[in-house]
Formats: sequence, C-alpha cells, structure tokens
Amino acid sequence: MHILKYSAAVLGLIALCGGARAEDGDIIDAATVTPLAGWVEHATGVHMQALPRTIASTEKLQSALAMEGVQKARAAAAYLPGRILISNAVWDPDSIRAQSYLVHELVHHAQLVSRRVYPCGAAKEREAYMLQNEWLKQHGEEPLVTQEWIDNISSCSNANSGDGDGD
Ligand SMILES: [Zn+2]
Repeated sequence: MHILKYSAAVLGLIALCGGARAEDGDIIDAATVTPLAGWVEHATGVHMQALPRTIASTEKLQSALAMEGVQKARAAAAYLPGRILISNAVWDPDSIRAQSYLVHELVHHAQLVSRRVYPCGAAKEREAYMLQNEWLKQHGEEPLVTQEWIDNISSCSNANSGDGDGD
C-alpha cells in the first residue's frame, strides 16, 4: 500500500515537470487568460469585450517582431492587435513570472481597446511594466525590472521610445 502511494506521488511529480513546457504553437486557453485579464481590467479600469488570442510560439513571436522591424531578439512576448504571442520557451502555466508576461501584454490590449491617448509609445510601456511589477508583487515575487529602469525607458524624450507595442 505504501509502495503504491509512493509511486503515485513520483508519477505525479514527473507529470508536473514534464507538463510545464509548452510546444511551439500551443494556444493558451481562456481558463488561463481570463483571470489575468480580470486583474488587468480592475487595475486599468478598462473593460475588455474580447480577449486576445494567446499563443505560445517562439517562431511566431520572432517572425512578428521581424515583420515590425523590431530589434528585440530577446523579447519574451509581444502584443499585436487582438493577439498575444509569448515564447514557448518562456511560457509555463505554473510560473508566476511567465504569467506576468501575459499581464504585461494584456495591459497593451487594454490600452488599445480603451482608445486612450498616450503621449508616446514609451508611455504605454511605463503602464505595462508598472502593472507587471505590481502583479508580481501581489503574488509574492520580485519585480521584473527596477523603477529606475522603467523611468529610463518610458520617457517620451528617450531616443529608444518606439511605438512600444512590440515589447
Ligand atoms: Zn510592452
């Protein structure tokens, strides 16, 4: 009896480890995205009628960034109108940090549907990184980036301030 229980536990552990990594092209289901979107709606005050189609794919992410001419080879995720792409090497449904990337991109979705006017693309990144950090904090994790870093990249006078949506 004890042996059976033990092997069941071991099997469970293997299943947990093996199941964490996403295949390229996996669609991230609504059960995962909806609670994150709910948090973003609450934080931004923007109601999102429809959730973006969310796909874990390094290949799609890289080609989308290349099409936009964005030099962001290390980007983990991106928002395109109505669509979120996250690297499948980064995506892990059990990781708070991986989920925080979806929170960041969902903020960009909220920004688009809100039709709010931002002074520049970099200002959109400020909101997205601030809320990503806030979400991590609420879930007991360290911030992704420092406030100083956010202040630096989100200045509209910064030469690096692009349209911001590819981040
Ligand atoms: Zn961004």
